[in-house]
Amino acid sequence: MNRAEMQMRVSQREYNLPLPKNVIGERLILSLSRSTCCVAEELLVRSRSGSFVARDCLACGARADYAHLEQIPDLDCEGCAAHRRTGTAVPIMKHNNYWYRCEGCRREWEIGSIVPEWSDAFQYSGLAAPGDPNVIR
Ligand SMILES: [Zn+2]
Ligand SMILES: [Zn+2]
Repeated sequence: MNRAEMQMRVSQREYNLPLPKNVIGERLILSLSRSTCCVAEELLVRSRSGSFVARDCLACGARADYAHLEQIPDLDCEGCAAHRRTGTAVPIMKHNNYWYRCEGCRREWEIGSIVPEWSDAFQYSGLAAPGDPNVIR
């Protein structure tokens, strides 16, 4: 998925969708914040360090920042939403990474494993990560 495809999907409201038991493919999740560069929507992406979560400006793709827990939206859990319990998947910190945990059924999803890889759509941003090779894209 490149940035144009991400922008198209976001314009079609294909983001922040309910989480199924097993997530197949990548989920587009918008940060609750706006980018400082374009005052545009920011997409949560897997950072170069692996499962850590960053937020990237969807408009220009040139800026990235670490995502803070309070910038990550609550989502629906597919299983619980079927019983009209919505917004039960809330972001938590666990094992030094961000996870969604459903307050209804206790299911958990590691956020870094369900969002796109940062390099799919965004330019090198200078966000340092331990162990990174010094590759400028
Ligand atoms: Zn921007
Ligand atoms: Zn649930």
